[in-house]
Amino acid sequence: MLGRLCRWMRIVGIDTAYHRPENNINIVLRSLKEKRIIITRDLKLKNSAALKVFIIDNDDFRQQLKETVNKLDIKIDPDKVFIRCPECNTKLVGEDKKKVKGKVPDYIYKTHDKFSKCVNCEKLYWKGTHQEMVNKILRDIQK
Ligand SMILES: [Zn+2]
Repeated sequence: MLGRLCRWMRIVGIDTAYHRPENNINIVLRSLKEKRIIITRDLKLKNSAALKVFIIDNDDFRQQLKETVNKLDIKIDPDKVFIRCPECNTKLVGEDKKKVKGKVPDYIYKTHDKFSKCVNCEKLYWKGTHQEMVNKILRDIQK
């Protein structure tokens, strides 16, 4: 349910694990083992043994991100934006422009010089339209 929020938390540099809705016991155990705060819409988790449970009630991911960052007092470090893979949370590494030829759309290759790659899922990233959106969201959050 909160997949979009999860991806955006990773984009702004927050170490975020994602669990599909399943046995809540597993989610609680993981939160304890990895010392993670549970962010959920599932009210049943509210009184669980987890370290901390944060219940989201907004529907819009931008509002959810704002709510999460503000209420959990998370500091977003602009230097850490775009260092994690939005899909799998792995840290990204810089990728040589020559190596991405043929792997990204031609117009992207022609208009961008900096690429990064996830060493886990091998997805390639570049600062395109996402950057604009990130800037907008960060401005919005910090208001
Ligand atoms: Zn990845």
